[in-house]
Amino acid sequence: LRKLTKQWQPIIQKRKTAKIGPELYQCPKCQDIVYSGARSIDVIQQEHPNARVGRMDVDHIEPIMEIESAGSAKDWNKIIARMFCPSDNLQVLCSICHKEKSDKEKTGRAAVRRAAKNG
Ligand SMILES: [Zn+2]
Repeated sequence: LRKLTKQWQPIIQKRKTAKIGPELYQCPKCQDIVYSGARSIDVIQQEHPNARVGRMDVDHIEPIMEIESAGSAKDWNKIIARMFCPSDNLQVLCSICHKEKSDKEKTGRAAVRRAAKNG
């Protein structure tokens, strides 16, 4: 299912508009210039000295899996609706920032689940 979101137009559009050059992005969180193309980074660095090689992910600002309802049964309709969300809930982050955010959300859900179990 997550693979399908790669075909979701708002996600494709978001990725496009985040580009500052061919396969070149700036992460809005860490401000890193990230290059995800096939050329040598040396060539890119002539114009952007701080550029690094990396991957950019399209992140759901409001996560697909709601944190507050982590303790209750999964509502797939809701999950799907959140997955295929409008573009204003999307941002393009470098994979490092994206992982950081996802990990935080994971920790949040685990805490909610624990709290639900303990009543
Ligand atoms: Zn970043």
